[in-house]
Formats: sequence, C-alpha cells, structure tokens
Amino acid sequence: VVVAPLHGPDAVLAVLVAEHDGPVPARQVEALELLAAHAGVAVGNARLHEQRRAIEGVLAHQAVHDSLTELANRRLLQDRAADVLAERDGETVAVLLLDLDGFKEINDTFGHSYGDGLLRQVAARLAATVRATDTAARLGGDEFALLVRGLQDRADAERTAARVQQVLQQPFLVDGITLDIEGSIGVALAPDHGHDIDTLLRCADVAMYIAKRDRAGITVYDPGFDQHTPDRLALLGDLRRALDDPAQLQLHYQPKVDVALGGLVGVEALLRWRHPERGMVAPAEFIGTAEGTGLIHPLTRHVLDTALAQGRQWQDEGQWVPIAVNLSARSLLDVSLTGHIADLLLKHQVPAALLRLEITETSIMADPSRALDVLHGLAAQGVRLSIDDFGTGYSSMNYLRLFPVDELKVDRTFVSQICTDSNDTVMVRSMIELGHNLGMHVVAEGVEDQATLSALAELGCDIAQGSFTGPPMPATDLASWVAENLSRRGGAAQPAA
Ligand code: C2E
Ligand code: CA
Ligand code: CA
Repeated sequence: VVVAPLHGPDAVLAVLVAEHDGPVPARQVEALELLAAHAGVAVGNARLHEQRRAIEGVLAHQAVHDSLTELANRRLLQDRAADVLAERDGETVAVLLLDLDGFKEINDTFGHSYGDGLLRQVAARLAATVRATDTAARLGGDEFALLVRGLQDRADAERTAARVQQVLQQPFLVDGITLDIEGSIGVALAPDHGHDIDTLLRCADVAMYIAKRDRAGITVYDPGFDQHTPDRLALLGDLRRALDDPAQLQLHYQPKVDVALGGLVGVEALLRWRHPERGMVAPAEFIGTAEGTGLIHPLTRHVLDTALAQGRQWQDEGQWVPIAVNLSARSLLDVSLTGHIADLLLKHQVPAALLRLEITETSIMADPSRALDVLHGLAAQGVRLSIDDFGTGYSSMNYLRLFPVDELKVDRTFVSQICTDSNDTVMVRSMIELGHNLGMHVVAEGVEDQATLSALAELGCDIAQGSFTGPPMPATDLASWVAENLSRRGGAAQPAA
C-alpha cells in the first residue's frame, strides 16, 4: 500500500491510497506523490473559489441592501420593479412610500441609537406585512418603500396600505421605552399612474407629501396633485440656489387700507420668486415644499432681512410704513426665531413696532401651547402679531383670548362672497364682532371690488386688503401708487417716540 498526503494551503486535505502487489517501484511512488501534490493544489483552489464566491455573495448582498435594516435598498427596489413591471400581465402593481411622522424629534429626544433601533423594528414589521414576492425597501432616513404585485385594483392597494398603517399603529418597544408612531403613506399604481419605477416613485412621493400635509395617513396619487407640486426635489434644489442668488427672490408689498378713512395703514410683504427657467413661481407652489424641509428657515430669514431693510429705507425717506411678514407653521417651532428677529431689528435699526408677523390660525392650533410661548416671546419684544387666514382653522375662543395678538385677518374665501352669499355675510359679521370683543382690529383679505369694500365698511371692518384696494407691488412703485390711489387722510400715525 502506498499512501500520499494531499496538502491543501493550510492542512492535509486527504490521502491518496494505492494498492500494489509486492514492492512498489520508486518511479511509481514519485508519480503518485506528484499526483497527490497536483490534487492538493486543485482541491485547495476549489476551496478558495468557494470562499471567494461566498465573499462575493456577501458583497453583492451589501450592494443592494440597507446595512441598518437589511431591507432592499433603492437599487434593488429598482431592479425588482423593472422585472415586475416588465412581467406585469393585467394585474395592478403598487408602490407605497412611507415616511414616519416626527422621526427627527424622536431622534433628537432619545438619541440616534434609539432611532436606529426604531427603524430596524419598523423595517421588520414592513417585511412581515408583504409577501415574499413583494419587496420592502429603505430609501434612506425614515423613508421606506414597498413594491406590491398581484393586486386586483386600486381598492386592493388601499387595503394593503391600510394594513401597513395598522401594523405600525402597534406601539414600539425600543430600549425599554414604549413609543407610538405614525406614518404617512403615498400610493402610486401601475398601470394607472405610470409604467416605470421612477415615475411611480415620483408619484408616490407627491402623494406622500399630500398625505403629510393633510394629515390624511394614506393618499393615493392623483394627477391633479402635480399642478401644484411640480417635481418637489428639483424645486427644492432650485430654491436652495435662489437663496444664494437673492436677485431671484423679491418681495412685493400689498397695501393695507383703512376702510373708513381710505389711507395706507401698512403693507404685507409677499415673496416672489423669479425662477430662471420657469419664470414666476407663486409662493403657494414652494412655501409648503420648503416647509417640508429645513429650507423654510433660511427663506424666512431672508424675507425678514429684506423687509426690515426696506422698512429702514422708508423710514429714512420719512415714511412710517408698518410691514407685515408671513411666518410659516414651521417657524413657530424654530427656537432661535425670537433671538434672530431681535438681531435683525438691531441690525437695521428698525423699531419693533414697525414689524408685524402674520401667523395662520391653522399653524397656531397645530401646537397651541408651543405657539403661545413663541408668540409671547415675540410680543415681549414689541413685535405686533396677526392671526392670518382666520375662519379656515378651528381655533377656540378660549385659546384666542390667550394670544398676544391685536389683529385678525378674515380669510378671503369668506370676504369674496359677502355681497352674494348671505351665510358669508353672517360669518364675516360675527368674525368682526369676535375680533372687536377680543380687543383686536379686523382686516378683510381679498377685497376685489367697491361693493365688497362698501359692505365691509357697513359691517364695521377696520382694514381692507385686496386687488381692489391695492395689489402687491415692488417697493419702488408703492409711494407713487399710494399718492395716486389712496386718500391722504388716515395714514398710519407715527407712534409717539
Ligand atoms: P396670504 O398670507 O393669505 O397672502 C395673501 C395672498 O392673497 C397673496 O397671495 C396675495 O397676492 C393674494 N391676494 C391679494 N389680494 C387679493 C385679492 O383681491 N383676491 C385674491 N384672490 N387674492 C388676493 P400670494 O402672494 O400668492 O401668497 C400666497 C400665500 O403664500 C400667502 O397667503 C402666504 O400664506 C404665503 N406667503 C407669501 N409670502 C410668504 C413669505 O414670505 N413667507 C411665508 N412663510 N409665506 C408666504
Ligand atoms: Ca398673510
Ligand atoms: Ca391670509
């Protein structure tokens, strides 16, 4: 018997055994040993190959999975979607985009490792909600996507979204802390809304944004949304660039006119964005989008800075023109706002009483106790405050009484109909009475004709603002416009120094 070991890279892998009658010639022993050596190398290679394949497998997995949650990443979602959509045969395929509400606050409050733990649990629940043939992906941050196939119709997709929402509604237990979270889900469908994943993701993103804005929980995409939400990301990028190129951003000023005396009592600053390609973009199209990100903060600061510089200039020209600036709901959550406004007043050497901030009823009611804090801080500085779009929110008298606000702006949807709709007349009358009872003066927005202005005068409304009493205009046009169109009586009195 001849025995020859097969040496692998680090151990003997096997032995070669040859049987032979009688003594074995040395040549054959050599040949056998040579054979064993070759076999050893071959087996060793095979092992290495196996190991390499395993490593490659891990790398390939990592390339298309999210390392935190082990869900598919965007690339894998796109690949799977391409296959699913190509094979689609009469069935409906849905893309669900999920964004957790208030995740940033959770991260800030409990720390990142808590946030990571929460994301992992959300991921596990999502993966368990869909079938093995579906795909659950994490697209980044607290944004997840589900690709769901084999649906019958839109209602079927909505049921799936509702199931996801239900699964999230069970409290989460992370690091010994129990937490309730909510998510907003946008849904897009193939073939209804698109045939490729990029289109579907974009539609789902728009729907998700609407779901968040309206606190609807689940929103299915509707082509009508897009008129007001053009590609959100592109718009945000452009807006970021506009902030570096302030020539694109301008303020127009709309006169606020004393109803009884016909004089100018102040102006409202309204943001105008001249986009290099799209031309004029209305604030309604980008303020909400900017609010969804941190971009609203530099934007608000830019507006305040510009408006106060203008206020300084008017003062230097001997004009006392109070300026109202709109604050977004997000600004009420900005802890540095009060200090920032104090700095700007100092920088431009403008008295606080020249500045008025307009806050919508809805944004106050979103978090009344928080708003109360911020508004008292601002009022303590001497800044004036208004409640904007009054009538569209659901504020209670109890709260209104607590706010250091001296102006109520009745939303234009009520004002525009007061001559034709008796319900609206009653509404506006009672809002004016309410304001007066609370010691506020009342502004009517959207005054578009003489008849409306006369009706407002009869109802005892204090101030009018609208295309009839004066459209928004550049600062340079204001003085001549006022001289030509408004009474010289009743202008804002300069307060005693
Ligand atoms: P808002 O505060 O209610 O501002 C009044 C809006 O009504 C302005 O639209 C103005 O141009 C428009 N308007 C004025 N007179 C009339 C009228 O007679 N009839 C009608 N139908 N509309 C009239 P604009 O400038 O498009 O602004 C829309 C909204 O965007 C504003 O509503 C405000 O909420 C927001 N916004 C504008 N500028 C800023 C800003 O600098 N910061 C923030 N956060 N929001 C802003
Ligand atoms: Ca306003
Ligand atoms: Ca308003």
